[in-house]
Amino acid sequence: MDRDYYDVLGISRDANETEIKKAYRKLALQYHPDKNPGDKEAEEKFKEISEAYEVLKDPEKRRRYDMYGNAGMKGGFEGFGGFDFDLSDALRTFMSEGFGFGDFFGTSTRSQRRASRTRGADLQIRLKLTLEEIADGVTKKIKLKRYARCEACGGSGAKKGSSSVTCSVCQGSGEIRQVSRTIFGQMVNVTTCSNCGGEGRVIRDKCPVCNGQGRVKEENSISVNIPAGVATGNYITLRGEGHVGPRGGTTGNAIIIIEEEEHPYFERHGDDVLYDLYISFSQAALGDDVEVPTLKGKAKLSIPAGTQSGKILRMRGKGIRHLHNHGYGDELVRILVWTPTKLSEKEKQLFRQLSKMENIRPPKGDKSFFKKIKDALFD
Ligand SMILES: [Zn+2]
Ligand SMILES: [Zn+2]
Repeated sequence: MDRDYYDVLGISRDANETEIKKAYRKLALQYHPDKNPGDKEAEEKFKEISEAYEVLKDPEKRRRYDMYGNAGMKGGFEGFGGFDFDLSDALRTFMSEGFGFGDFFGTSTRSQRRASRTRGADLQIRLKLTLEEIADGVTKKIKLKRYARCEACGGSGAKKGSSSVTCSVCQGSGEIRQVSRTIFGQMVNVTTCSNCGGEGRVIRDKCPVCNGQGRVKEENSISVNIPAGVATGNYITLRGEGHVGPRGGTTGNAIIIIEEEEHPYFERHGDDVLYDLYISFSQAALGDDVEVPTLKGKAKLSIPAGTQSGKILRMRGKGIRHLHNHGYGDELVRILVWTPTKLSEKEKQLFRQLSKMENIRPPKGDKSFFKKIKDALFD
């Protein structure tokens, strides 16, 4: 039985775009798999939320859904063949919403139970990549500067031979309960024990290596496979490669944030790259075989005779490999005719001669004639 998308997001049937977005963001953050590792139920919920959002945020899909319900989404309609939402779709939806890291890792709405076994902080690393590296994917060595478990004390923070003892203030619970009577009845206020920091235990003698922290700074590097087709702002989560928490805490994640470097001569358009090629009047008029740079070395390109300035020639498959599909984008070569700026007397003479010739001037056409030429520039 398919659940009602409006119920899934907890919104009314006349919710506007802002309300839909807000509901999705709140729930997506709550049920994101990174926040609920190994929790199948949360994952299902996350997929459900994302599917509902994908439909309701799109006015056209939402209209169909309102008219036909889930049946309108599950095939039988053009363009909807097999509307099957899997986890990678859901994660893509999440990523396309442009959540900041603050949303995800900053404020936690759930109260942290027992501060013992604190999760270590996440490590954020900016990784610059060239277009050439992005085009086919690359393996990168990444330096990690992070807190790692102290070997001397095994992460406990206690000096060898010395053990930790149960906190005498909270008797090991890590919490202080204060009961007060009010006109509404009994109120219980729970706060973290300040003596042990909520850990329930205190160290008698601190480990001298880590000064009782149970962790030390370390520097090492790991190899990371970066898939082809990534773009600035994409990120890769390496589970358990972040900082270790203090005194036997768990490890956070390392988050690699992709940053694309500007290329000296290619401009990226999705998975296509655009290259501006300057040619001479003569090459444009007579045609020529030239070499152009590609992301994988030089390639031959034929310029047909009579090529107009602004014409885009497409070199299929010479672009960036798609991230989510098979195949590659294209290289688009934009032809720009170079007007000479410094001419010798002899060259001027030749141009003057040429200028009197019949076919050298643009034809006297009306607007529609030039529109046709313009339309033919891109194919
Ligand atoms: Zn230690
Ligand atoms: Zn305590």
